[in-house]
Amino acid sequence: MYQIIADLHIHSIASGHAFSTVREIAMVAKQKNLQYIGLAEHGPSMPGGPAPIYFEARGHFPKKIDNIEVFFGAEIDILDEKSTLDLDDQMLKKIDYGIVSFHPQVYRGEIRSDYTSILIRALENPYINIIAHLGNPRYPVDYPMVVKKAVEYNKVIEINNSSFRVSRKGSLENCKIIAQEVKKQGGYIIVTSDAHYCDEVGDYQLSLDLLESINFPKEYIINTSPTKFQSYMNTFLKIRGRER
Ligand SMILES: [Zn+2]
Ligand SMILES: [Zn+2]
Repeated sequence: MYQIIADLHIHSIASGHAFSTVREIAMVAKQKNLQYIGLAEHGPSMPGGPAPIYFEARGHFPKKIDNIEVFFGAEIDILDEKSTLDLDDQMLKKIDYGIVSFHPQVYRGEIRSDYTSILIRALENPYINIIAHLGNPRYPVDYPMVVKKAVEYNKVIEINNSSFRVSRKGSLENCKIIAQEVKKQGGYIIVTSDAHYCDEVGDYQLSLDLLESINFPKEYIINTSPTKFQSYMNTFLKIRGRER
C-alpha cells in the first residue's frame, strides 16, 4: 500500500475548462489528508487557458491554505516539432515546477512525427521537471529511450489517474509498460489526479492499483513521503534560483 501526501497536477477555474477554485481544492485536499497540492494550469496556448498575466500574478497566489502547502506550477504544452514550449524561460523560472505535455487541442502533430525526439528535446529545458501522461497512445514514443533520458536529466514521470478514467483512452497498458521500465532503470514516478473538479483531488486509486500490480517500489514514488517530496520540490526551486 502506498500513502500519497501530495497532488501536483490539479486544474482550477483558471484553466477555462475546470470547475473549482483554489480554496475549494485545498479544502478537499485537507479532508483527504494531503499535505501539499500544486496547481498546474495550462499555458496560454490551451484554448480558454490562462493568459501570460496569470503567471505574472503569482505574488497573489497563496503559499499555504489552512495548513496545506500550495505550489504554483504549470502544465506546459509542446507546440511543434521543434519542441517549442508555450511558456518562455522567463515565465518558466517564475513558477515552482513545470510539467510538460502534448495535447491535441494545441499540437496535433503528424502520424509520422517523431514524438520521441520532440519530447526528449523538450526535456533538455531545465525548468521542465515532470512528464505528463506519457502513456497517451495519441503521442507514441519509445518508452525505454524516454525513461533513460528522464533518469539522466532527473525528470519525474507522471502516472496520471485521469488517463484511466475520463481521457486518453488506451493509456493503461502503456502506463504499465512505462512503470515497468522506470522500475527497471531506477527512475522516479509521481502519482497525480489531474483533477478538474475539487472532488477529484487526491483521486489516484487506479494509478496506485497499476503500480501495486507490478510491485513498484514506494521509495521511487516521490509523493509518498514528505522528506522525499520536499527534497524534490527544493531541487525544482533551486534550478530556478529560488527557495520556498
Ligand atoms: Zn494534460
Ligand atoms: Zn492537466
